[in-house]
Amino acid sequence: MSKNVVIAIDGPAGSGKSTLAKYIADKLGFLYLDTGAMYRAVTLDAIRRDVVDDEKKVTAISETISLDMEYTDGVTHVFINDEEVTDFIRTPEVNSYVSPVARMAGVRKALLELQQKFGEERNLVVEGRDTTTVVFPNADIKIFMVATVEERAARRLKELEESGTKITFEEVKKNLEERDRIDSSRAIAPLKKAEGAFEIDSTSISVKDEFEKIVKKLAEIDKKFLSHLS
Ligand code: C5P
Repeated sequence: MSKNVVIAIDGPAGSGKSTLAKYIADKLGFLYLDTGAMYRAVTLDAIRRDVVDDEKKVTAISETISLDMEYTDGVTHVFINDEEVTDFIRTPEVNSYVSPVARMAGVRKALLELQQKFGEERNLVVEGRDTTTVVFPNADIKIFMVATVEERAARRLKELEESGTKITFEEVKKNLEERDRIDSSRAIAPLKKAEGAFEIDSTSISVKDEFEKIVKKLAEIDKKFLSHLS
């Protein structure tokens, strides 16, 4: 294969994008990019500076933020100015501000540029809300993940409880529905199924079976590409 392979996965919160993307990265040795973590980092910085409602100031943060991300051992470690913020970007407070921040045109422009740079040098698996439509519209494989809202809320509740957060199923479900509403209805880069994307419903299929489907698609693109796996 002459150019780098890009596998892009979009879908609503809790639909299983990260689980699948990490599985692909681990099995195929692809670089993994969690674009949601970037929107979360900008949001956290804006909350800490007490400017999260000020579009101009949030945009300035997105344009100047010193953001590093490292995927190791199943975790995307996120750093702002060398401070590790991996746990701080996944709190209920960040959950409630991130979609309004991600709606800001200047923020999307700044992060888009950073995201596209990742695809230049290595085989990449990337996930988010607009990675199949805007960031990498020419990705080799485009996937739209879905799952029932009950299933998605149950997954997120488990993650939050494991990190010691006290929250109810209803609160988690309400936040997911609100984020889905904002993410799908915004003017710029709304969440939607891209042309040429294939849909995976993760409610009833294991990540291993999802991966097998993708391997088949990759083989259709280039049989030689996967020969090192067998
Ligand atoms: O994927 P995750 O739930 O961490 O994303 C957090 C939020 O970041 C989403 O609800 C959405 O508002 C925003 N986002 C986005 N575009 C992306 C990735 C995430 O707008 N490509």
